[in-house]
Amino acid sequence: MVIDLRSDTVTQPTPAMREAMYHAEVGDDVYGEDPTVNRLQELAAQRLGKEAALFVTSGTMGNTTAMLTHVPRGAAAIVGDQAHIYRYEGGGAARLGGIQLWVVPNQPDGGFDQEQLAAAITDESDEHTPPTALLCLENTHNRCGGRALSLEQMTALCGLAHARGLKVHVDGARIFNAAVALGVPVSQLVAEADSVMFCPSKGLSAPVGSLLVGSRDFIERARWVRKVLGGGLRQAGILAAAGIVALEQMVERLAEDHAHARLLAEGLADLPQVKLDAQRVQTNIVIFRLQDGERVLPEERCAEFLVRLKDEGVLLSSMGNGLLRAVSHYGIERPHIEMALLAIKRTLEAMLPRTRVGRLS
Ligand SMILES: *Cc1c(COP(=O)(O)O)cnc(C)c1O
Repeated sequence: MVIDLRSDTVTQPTPAMREAMYHAEVGDDVYGEDPTVNRLQELAAQRLGKEAALFVTSGTMGNTTAMLTHVPRGAAAIVGDQAHIYRYEGGGAARLGGIQLWVVPNQPDGGFDQEQLAAAITDESDEHTPPTALLCLENTHNRCGGRALSLEQMTALCGLAHARGLKVHVDGARIFNAAVALGVPVSQLVAEADSVMFCPSKGLSAPVGSLLVGSRDFIERARWVRKVLGGGLRQAGILAAAGIVALEQMVERLAEDHAHARLLAEGLADLPQVKLDAQRVQTNIVIFRLQDGERVLPEERCAEFLVRLKDEGVLLSSMGNGLLRAVSHYGIERPHIEMALLAIKRTLEAMLPRTRVGRLS
C-alpha cells in the first residue's frame, strides 16, 4: 500500500461520482445543450454567489481564460511572486494573451502588503509602463503553505484594486478549503471578486474539470476564449456529473483533511530533523524543510529523502529549493498519517543519524 501525500489531485472519484457519471444525461455543450453541464454551472454560480459559471477542463484553463478575458494585450496583471499563475501555468498569459505579469512579493500568509500593492498599480498616463488591468489573488495559497486569506484581507485587497480601476480574479483552486477553515460562507469570501476559478478536481475529489464564475457578461466573453483555447467540449456532462457530487457531498468533509494535515504537521515538528511551524498549518497543505543540526538540507539531499521515503511506501512532493510538501485529502485517514509519520521518522534517522533526539544541546 502506498500513502500518497503528493497532492490532493491524486484523489479517486467517489462511488457516488462514478454512479452519477454513468447515469449522466448529456448533450452537446458547445450548443449549450448538455443538461448536466448546465446544472453544474448553475450550482457553481449559486454557491459562489455570482451570476454565471463556465465549466473548463482544468484550473490552468480557468485562470488563463479569466486573464485573457479581463486583460487586453500589452496590459499588466499583478500576481504574487509565489502565485500558481506566475510559476506553474506555463507562461500562458504572456504566450497566449500578450499579458505582462507584474510581480509583487507575497506576504508569508499569501496576501500582499497594501502599500507595496498600491505602489505597483499603474495607469495609462505614462508611456513607459504597461497599465495594470487586473489583480490576481490566490486563496488558499499553495506555496504559502495552504494559508487562507481572511474575509477582511479579501475585502481590503479587492477594495484597493477596485478603487484604482482594476478587476480582481481569484485563483481559488482550493477556495472551499479556505471557506471551511475560516468558517465563512464561500459566497461571502469572494463577494468582492470579479471572477473566481475553483477546482472540483482537487480536495473535492472529482476526476476532471474546474469552474470559472463571474458576471453574466464576463462569462459570455470567457466562453469565447475557452472555445479558442480548445476547451469547447461536447458531452461533457459525463465529467460535470462528478463535479455536482463534489459540490453537494464533498465540501464539509474538507475539515477532516485539515485536521489530518495539522496532525501530520505536529508530528513532523516534533522531529529534530524537520523545520516547520505547525501552528501555521491552517488547511490541507503542509510545507516544511529538513535540517541537519543547524544546517538546512539542500535540494539534492531532499530528493534523496523522497526516494528513500518512497521505498517506505510514502510519497511527498518537492517544491524546489529544499521545500517539501505533504497534502491531505479524501482517502487519507488518521492511521495513514500515523504510518506516514513513522516512515518519515525512520527514514530521517537512517539518513541523518547525528541529529537524533538527545543530541540537542
Ligand atoms: C492546481 C492549481 C491550479 C491549476 O489547476 P490544474 O487543474 O492543475 O490546471 C491553479 N491554482 C492553484 C493554486 C492550484 O493549486
